[in-house]
Amino acid sequence: MAQNRIQFQPGMSLPAFIAQYGTEAQCEAALERARWPDGFRCPRCGCQAHCVLHGSPRKMFQCSAC
Ligand SMILES: [Zn+2]
Repeated sequence: MAQNRIQFQPGMSLPAFIAQYGTEAQCEAALERARWPDGFRCPRCGCQAHCVLHGSPRKMFQCSAC
């Protein structure tokens, strides 16, 4: 029987995945690091000054200049 190459590719174990991304805060931090490795930068003007809005279901970053 042929092996499914996708299913058997090397990867992260479930305990390692949970240790790294187990909470919503860990996932948020990982996304922010991936999106802005040097901190927030506005895609429109390039400014780094911003505030964080927590009112919506998602954390929102708002540029202070735009
Ligand atoms: Zn801006």
